[in-house]
Amino acid sequence: MIDIEYDFGISGDAPDDAFLDPQAIEYLFAQTQQDLGSSLQRRLAGVVCREHGHPPRLRLIGRYDQAAGEMDIQYHIDTCCPLFLARVIKTLNTRG
Ligand SMILES: [Zn+2]
Repeated sequence: MIDIEYDFGISGDAPDDAFLDPQAIEYLFAQTQQDLGSSLQRRLAGVVCREHGHPPRLRLIGRYDQAAGEMDIQYHIDTCCPLFLARVIKTLNTRG
């Protein structure tokens, strides 16, 4: 298991005709974390730095924009060295 930290939150003010209510947004966050988390765990299973033996650490930042009704997700990958970072990115891009 790799270490994944989640930072999900809401941005902007809810318009009167908001697409999702706060409960639905919480549900969306929980679902997204679960889906992305298990996908990332699967794709990065057993991936450790060949030189230092450390697994990568990930931070997922999700922002639900209430005005737009859209979720933006950013990945931050933390590794022991730049070479391994390149390998992790390549692995994420090639493993479905
Ligand atoms: Zn390393």
